[in-house]
Amino acid sequence: MMSNAQASQNTPAASSAPLSISSTNVLPFLDISPDALVIINPAGTIVMVNRQTEAIFGYRRTELLGQPLELLLPERFHEVHADHRQQYFTTPRTRPMGVGLHLVGRRKDGTEFPVEISLNPLLLDDVLHVIGAVRDMTAQRVAERERLQQLEQIRLQAELINLAHDAILVRDPVSRVISWNQGAEELYGWTAQEAQGRVTHSLLKTCFPSSRADVDAHLEHEGQWEGELTHTRRDGSSVIVESRQMLVRDEEGHPSAILEINRDITERRHLEQAEQVVHAETVAHLAFLQQVLDALPSSVYLVYGTDARLLLANRAAANVWGAEWPADQPMLEFLTSNGIGITNAQGYPLPPSQLATLRAVKLRETVLQQQELIRRPGGSSLPVLVNAVALPAQRRWSAPLQETEQQTPVEEAMALVMHQDVSALKEAEYLKDEFVGIVAHELRTPLAALKGFADMLLVQTARGRGVALAEWQQEALEEIELATSRLVTLTEELLDVTRLQAGRLHLQRTPTNMVPLAQRVVMLLQQTTTRHRLEVRTIQPELLADIDPGRIEQVLTNLIGNAIKYSPQGGPVTITIWEETAARIVGISVQDKGIGIPRRQHALMFGRFMRADNAQAWGISGTGLGLYICRELVQRHGGQLWFESEEDAGSTFFVTLPLVSAPQGDHEVPS
Ligand code: ADP
Repeated sequence: MMSNAQASQNTPAASSAPLSISSTNVLPFLDISPDALVIINPAGTIVMVNRQTEAIFGYRRTELLGQPLELLLPERFHEVHADHRQQYFTTPRTRPMGVGLHLVGRRKDGTEFPVEISLNPLLLDDVLHVIGAVRDMTAQRVAERERLQQLEQIRLQAELINLAHDAILVRDPVSRVISWNQGAEELYGWTAQEAQGRVTHSLLKTCFPSSRADVDAHLEHEGQWEGELTHTRRDGSSVIVESRQMLVRDEEGHPSAILEINRDITERRHLEQAEQVVHAETVAHLAFLQQVLDALPSSVYLVYGTDARLLLANRAAANVWGAEWPADQPMLEFLTSNGIGITNAQGYPLPPSQLATLRAVKLRETVLQQQELIRRPGGSSLPVLVNAVALPAQRRWSAPLQETEQQTPVEEAMALVMHQDVSALKEAEYLKDEFVGIVAHELRTPLAALKGFADMLLVQTARGRGVALAEWQQEALEEIELATSRLVTLTEELLDVTRLQAGRLHLQRTPTNMVPLAQRVVMLLQQTTTRHRLEVRTIQPELLADIDPGRIEQVLTNLIGNAIKYSPQGGPVTITIWEETAARIVGISVQDKGIGIPRRQHALMFGRFMRADNAQAWGISGTGLGLYICRELVQRHGGQLWFESEEDAGSTFFVTLPLVSAPQGDHEVPS
């Protein structure tokens, strides 16, 4: 205590004349003091203490009296303090408390605590004593520490404000700048010093959304304001800011300052404006596109996603469907909800996987000229040719024709689909078929007579009946016979076509063993050629199929006949027959090593009157009706007909037909 006090010896508060008092008088006054008062004699022994000393240090008065003063200090100070105490008694003076010095006291329980002390020499009963006033500074030190922490926090916050990119300023109630951060310096170009005291709206030539008075009124009323302002920088350029302002009031409620944070959004605004222009242009383009599409007489629509959701359609599309297809609705949902059916040209329902539109989006293939028949909600039917063009996957906005807040781009399959109404063509085709049917029918009788008489002449002459014919007469008769045979085949084919078209071809189905049937056809056709080697391969002696034997014989005759006809240089023709037990079908293939079919014409070969270019180039005659009739006949049996072929290498035609179903209860598997 003494050493600390010495540090303040030369302060102006020092006085030299010690107070003189008698011990009996002093005691009542000591207890009035809020500080701990300790009186020591020149030997450093405590002679008097007040109640506060007991409270602060935790000793009872009796425990302190007669004890050295060092009892109230931490042990580490004892020695040095005793020296300083003795020196103090040589030049005693009144000392103020050691301001700023960290003095430490020690309680009875050994705990230490910060204290402040003032020392006064005192003549007690005419003997020089020293009276020390000790104040417990624990609470003050805590408060001081907190204040320092707060100051540090304020310093950091001020630094933070300076670091911010936003312009942060404080202005007084009449808009004069009080504070102006680094962000404001950078944004506007004036330093804090230059801006200080300037009226913000004149300095920055502020453009208010409505008026300054409105903003001020809002601030006054609501205590805050948010909005966009346009300011002019020092260099004359404009800046658009998003401004947030807050009114601060003093204790009496009068406005004392306005805090303002301004964020530069010039760039953002310009981008938004550019985006709006692009958006408006896109909308205009779309509207124009829609007008162009609507002006088209054929149905045109765009679909996206693997379930073919509608993106846009023209007016003609609604006429084709007989119903409005709402945007974004998947195709199948649209068809079912409106009771619309789609069949092939022959009236067989098409499974979804074969619909041109779905194939284009699912398999990403372009389907051209597919015939479909649309059965509309009202019951009417419309024959159409469908062209579905798969487009490259597009980045599409989630809701194409409506404006939405949140739009997310996604990559999706797209297809452009066009429907061409072919009812007029179909009508013409029907009339043509009718006509061909009548002609073919009328030709049959005279042809039969012609063929019959030609045959008779040849046979009877060969038997030696009548005069012998000259060689040229014989040849002419044979030519007539050949030509009439061809004509008979042609009229039969034409009649079949018209029957198929009109749905008048009826099958006489009966369980038939396919193996002897094929062998019989092969045997007959082998007699027509010596350059080809026909062979039937099978491991099954019997395969009962549920077929019209006459019609299937016609199919095999046609396919094997073609194999012979289109192998003009001869070669093997192999007919293979097998059973597919699980699928309950019999398979037949006819393979040749002939001229083959050019790949580019594969898809067209089952059309009526279709002939491959190379067949014509080889000068092989034909009508192009056989394959069409064969496929129709096989399909009407519930089977399939297809081929694999390579030009100049050969072809293989495949047929599948249903086996006779096993009798009920016969589940035995042959070993
Ligand atoms: P046609 O033989 O009377 O022309 P088809 O309908 O039987 O008529 O055959 C159609 C076309 O398919 C033929 O003109 C020919 O170009 C081609 N074709 C059919 N079978 C074969 C085959 N085995 N090899 C090569 N081309 C074939």
